[in-house]
Amino acid sequence: MINNIEVCPHCNIKMELKTAPYSDNGKIIGDFEAYVCPSCNRVFYTDNGYKELTKYIMKKR
Ligand SMILES: [Zn+2]
Repeated sequence: MINNIEVCPHCNIKMELKTAPYSDNGKIIGDFEAYVCPSCNRVFYTDNGYKELTKYIMKKR
């Protein structure tokens, strides 16, 4: 599978499933489920995390 979200495309190593804070205009709006690369610290939100994230953003408007 080419689109393996669990593997960092930059480092080609397995990422850790945890939560990552998301900030909007410099304001942190919450922690969301995401894969975080232990090497380059890139954050890739999971489908779940992204869904929650969208909910928060919608609520604000
Ligand atoms: Zn990486």
